[in-house]
Amino acid sequence: MINRRKFLHFSALAAPLLTAKKTFASNFDAATRPIVVSTWDSGMPVNAAAWEILSTKGTALDAVEAGAMHIENEINCCVGLGGYPDRDGIVTLDSCIMDHKANCGAVAGIERIKHPVSVARKVMEKTPHVILVGAGAQQFAVENGFTLESTDLSESAKKAYAEWLKKSEYKPVINIENKKQNGPFAPNFFDDGTLNHDTMGLVAMDITGNLSGAVTTSGMAFKLHGRVGDSPIIGAGLFVDNEAGAATSSGTGEEVIRICGTHLVVEFMRQGYSPELACKKAVERIVNRDKVKAKTLQVGFLALNKKGEYGAYAIQKGFEFSVKSEK
Ligand code: ASP
Repeated sequence: MINRRKFLHFSALAAPLLTAKKTFASNFDAATRPIVVSTWDSGMPVNAAAWEILSTKGTALDAVEAGAMHIENEINCCVGLGGYPDRDGIVTLDSCIMDHKANCGAVAGIERIKHPVSVARKVMEKTPHVILVGAGAQQFAVENGFTLESTDLSESAKKAYAEWLKKSEYKPVINIENKKQNGPFAPNFFDDGTLNHDTMGLVAMDITGNLSGAVTTSGMAFKLHGRVGDSPIIGAGLFVDNEAGAATSSGTGEEVIRICGTHLVVEFMRQGYSPELACKKAVERIVNRDKVKAKTLQVGFLALNKKGEYGAYAIQKGFEFSVKSEK
């Protein structure tokens, strides 16, 4: 039996680009396996669920699915069905999963399904395709034994949506965290108190050294119905390359998609950059495209390389990540 108290289990703040005076490139690096890293401090229980599998010699793939499922079960978290709806009051979920052999699956805009990550895994394992969307994704889920859940919004989502409807202002800018209002499972808010986002992305390396990753989200709150962010897009919200490393992202999905963000991070790691520097270079790519706009945005990348070193970087302060390993 492994003694849990020995495990490193913490959440750390990623270095921000616009406000950082210095970076912490080597502080968070640790060569170890198995290991799991996930976005935000809400990643700590997610990591614990993944660790149940990693610590008993399970695969990174099973671990990341278990981690994502854990948060999808949290009704007070804005990742799964408890998350905030789109502009039309409908919760639509995005998710993807990728393994060490570049097998991958994703669902986008899926409704009434509790575990989109598991549907994504089924897309990967049972179809020749990578992404299923909307009604087709839901149909596939039902055909594969997933239950259709109610369309009711969670209590917190109902309240927030009613509030949003008062102005119905379309404001698709997300994720500049206000830590004062954050806590485990608490959503992240604009300074005016409105919700902006939450996404769970996690990447893991198992005892054999194989990498996998998964992402799950309800996406941008009050988005246009049909809007898909970076989270279910392989190469944007998640990328895994078993030779170089794996990366995931959170933040304004459109900006991540524009630069194929996580693919870029992994390619930088392949060129020899540390995980944090690779994330930083991808963040710079976004910022340099439009420095003025970047001030209003948050995007954070989190990466794990083949040696078990990890790092993160974000445009703004406040992007946290969680780590669990035996060291
Ligand atoms: N990246 C997600 C999206 O654009 C949102 C988030 O990370 O909170 O849908």
